[in-house]
Amino acid sequence: MQSKGKIVKMVPFHCARPKDACSKCAKLAEEGEKYCLISFPYSAEEISRPMITIEIDGEEVLCEFELEKIFKDEVEAREYATNNGLEMPKS
Ligand SMILES: [Zn+2]
Repeated sequence: MQSKGKIVKMVPFHCARPKDACSKCAKLAEEGEKYCLISFPYSAEEISRPMITIEIDGEEVLCEFELEKIFKDEVEAREYATNNGLEMPKS
């Protein structure tokens, strides 16, 4: 289940640096929320990954995650969700 990832609506970024330190992140922040595909790698690597609070089975859980894909719009996200058996976030 979790290896398939999860679709969330959030402001994406391309790295874990503070957004003021990275022009690409700043641009993404300016464009606002998008539908994104994220995954949750469970590894022992000492790489600092961004964290996100998501709801799993009604519980708020803080997870490290990796941004897999940014969908260009809701239609694309919905299509991906359908094809991969994922749920769309409640808007
Ligand atoms: Zn960046």
